[in-house]
Amino acid sequence: MAITMGSDSVQAPATAVGARAVGRLRAAFGGEVIGPADGGYDEQRRVWNGSIDRRPAVIARCTSVDDVRTAIRFGRDHQLSVAVRGGGHSFPGLSTCDDGLLIDLRPMKGVRVDPDARLAGAQAGILLGELDQATQEHGLAVPAGIVSHTGLAGLTLGGGIGWIMRKYGLTVDSLESADLVTADGDVVHASEDENADLFWGLRGGGGNFGVVTDFRFRLHPLGPQVMAGATFWHMDQAESVLRFYRDWIADCPDELMTIVVQRLAPALPVVPPELVGRPVIAVTACYAGDIDDGARVLRPMRDFGSPVLDVFAPKPFLAHEKMFDPSYRHGCWYYVRSCDVAALTDDVIDVVAEYGRRISSPLSSIALWQMGGAVGGVPDDATAFSGRSAGFTFNINGNSETTDGFQDQRQWARDYWTALAPFHTGVYVNFLMEEGEARVKQAYGDGKYERLTTLKRKYDPTNFFRLNQNVSPA
Ligand SMILES: Cc1cc2nc3c(=O)[nH]c(=O)nc-3n(C[C@H](O)[C@H](O)[C@H](O)COP(=O)(O)OP(=O)(O)OC[C@H]3O[C@@H](n4cnc5c(N)ncnc54)[C@H](O)[C@@H]3O)c2cc1C
Repeated sequence: MAITMGSDSVQAPATAVGARAVGRLRAAFGGEVIGPADGGYDEQRRVWNGSIDRRPAVIARCTSVDDVRTAIRFGRDHQLSVAVRGGGHSFPGLSTCDDGLLIDLRPMKGVRVDPDARLAGAQAGILLGELDQATQEHGLAVPAGIVSHTGLAGLTLGGGIGWIMRKYGLTVDSLESADLVTADGDVVHASEDENADLFWGLRGGGGNFGVVTDFRFRLHPLGPQVMAGATFWHMDQAESVLRFYRDWIADCPDELMTIVVQRLAPALPVVPPELVGRPVIAVTACYAGDIDDGARVLRPMRDFGSPVLDVFAPKPFLAHEKMFDPSYRHGCWYYVRSCDVAALTDDVIDVVAEYGRRISSPLSSIALWQMGGAVGGVPDDATAFSGRSAGFTFNINGNSETTDGFQDQRQWARDYWTALAPFHTGVYVNFLMEEGEARVKQAYGDGKYERLTTLKRKYDPTNFFRLNQNVSPA
């Protein structure tokens, strides 16, 4: 499709948008409006996953709720497909599009912290690390994810699992209210007391109902120092490490959150040179409580077998939440498969050990999330998020630096996931690729999916917001 924003002589099919119209959008818009002929277009269209290479016709970089409304109206008037970007970390690249309108919320960076009331407000362009930076100044936190450059908006709308969820619940469990702009351009406030049906859907139902511009969260005490880090073993000890791990976490306190990682040991200053590139299994953890209690709880696992590296220490939570950042750099090629399992049975452990030994890219890895604790303490029907009773969540990442070798890594991730198929119980919606309606249904379960379709009919009957893990209007 040929579209040039710089001139009026545009050869474009019916769905495209002419330069005059874009000029009018620019005149009515507070933020930047960028088209393919404008400087910075390539930088602004890029998303985190380097394997996604899409070319929107217009990028509307919103700075206010009014900008969001103007952009939505523009998309509607010109019948454009519309993508919405918070942090741009959608694994399958759902926050960009070819030839359509990209509503980019990244310039909306406001954060407000009220330490006395233990409340925080965040606009939709905030990244997890930016929110934590503001809240940790007061020794407080919103439960969120494990990589600091992930977008708060997309993560929250899918549920939000992370380092302190077993103590304080999912990100959505701390959500007090949100403001949303609908496809009609209406601004709607959602909380337990106002538009409670929408509030239910926003807590897990993704970007299906409109563009959320502002979130308000309850804050919880955390650190700012926490006992956190990782212990590593050679992958050939995977079976014994996992069996011990399974027993060790069986009655651990909710303050403890662990993630088992399999990967090739990374080339980082803390990793001895002789270990770099060797397949390892690690138990990573964060203790959301007293440092000495954390040290005591972690001791048996750290002492198990013959660890090859131990990097547990009291450290600022802000440092710990960057631990995985280097493993998920912007621009590499990423592919993920995910599933929940009920328990780490011997059969599951055998699969994990076998496929862990087959890792061949320094960027491929798995994260096996321990669920439970406060996540399971909230009634399942309280929010659209499903998976509160999951034992563990697998995130299997077949990644490569560039296109070279990507297909092999993707195949490894698919094979690993397929080998786990007999044990799948569900899937976390934010860890889906574009896998079709059946998988979206699986993420919510039939009952919740149906409730979401009814809500979709009420708030977005034309499915204007469809570039997401889409729920069709009933
Ligand atoms: C490196 C990495 C680490 C991750 N770690 C975690 C983790 O620890 N815990 C966890 O739960 N998940 C995690 N995820 C998954 C993450 O929750 C999703 O990828 C999430 O979509 C990212 O949010 P975003 O704002 O960056 O996404 P985007 O790519 O911007 O958007 C994702 C989806 O949400 C929609 N959307 C975004 N903002 C809005 C908005 N304001 N209003 C309406 N719709 C919107 C988009 O249209 C799109 O469909 C991780 C992902 C990555 C890539």
